[in-house]
Amino acid sequence: MILFKKAGALQIWLDKQREKSLKLGFVPTMGALHNGHISLINASKKVNHITVCSIFVNPTQFNNAADFDKYPITIKQDILQLEKAGCDVLFLPSVEEIYPNGLTIEKKYDLGNLEKILEGAFRPGHYQGVCMVVDRLLNIVMPDNLYLGQKDFQQCMVITKLIELIGLKEKVAITICSTLREKDGLAMSSRNMRLNENERRNAPAIFQTLSFIKSNVDKISPSFLRKQAVDMLEEVGFKVDYVEIADSATLKTIEDWTDSKKTIALIAAYDNEIRLIDNMFLFD
Ligand code: AMP
Repeated sequence: MILFKKAGALQIWLDKQREKSLKLGFVPTMGALHNGHISLINASKKVNHITVCSIFVNPTQFNNAADFDKYPITIKQDILQLEKAGCDVLFLPSVEEIYPNGLTIEKKYDLGNLEKILEGAFRPGHYQGVCMVVDRLLNIVMPDNLYLGQKDFQQCMVITKLIELIGLKEKVAITICSTLREKDGLAMSSRNMRLNENERRNAPAIFQTLSFIKSNVDKISPSFLRKQAVDMLEEVGFKVDYVEIADSATLKTIEDWTDSKKTIALIAAYDNEIRLIDNMFLFD
């Protein structure tokens, strides 16, 4: 695996690969890698000649300073995992390399309603930060294929919109990979490393609640099911930001099962200090 810290050097190297007509796959991450991230690397390796992974803990997407300060950094293990997975390139830039003009917002991305609901509502500014970094990374790497995880479903929608906004829709194809889970159903996440024993024991309640919603589609009304789901989570001590049952194309709340055939349930909740998110399609 080749490691680049400078965008310019990476671009020169990638241009040479493009001259040889090699296809580039890109997996942007914030590090503290787990098998969920590696599944994205594997998906890229299947169809691209070269797979590039980036690790960059993006300061502009953290609406909570403590969350940024405590974000796990495990770079040595990350490199070992990427080498084992056969990743070709790791881009490991500094903050200055990504934001040479500083962290002030230079551009506003018009994300419409996507930014006002769910994660957008609970994490003001988060998606503008995501767009800032992904815009910059895409312009450096210019991949043919971009790999994202369904775990961050709304983020997948935001990045799809971003790619349209910055005129890369024809150039960059997005693949959304399914969520990798621990044996007990907990969605793999870098933040899971911060859970203590007790919190970790409680954490699968999110997956169990999503499964409960899925098993009651068409049996209980969406609004009553949302209420029951919140109760289930609160019973084990979670502080719930939202439980939503929505159309997966728009993330609009559904009030009746006939409102949408492609429904999704989404949850964000605090296991003490640690905010966990997860989602599940309610159709097969
Ligand atoms: P992050 O490092 O959290 O920014 O995640 C980098 C990418 O990995 C994003 O596209 C995530 O959606 C994806 N990802 C995170 N967790 C998982 C998981 N459990 N399964 C599959 N993909 C994931």
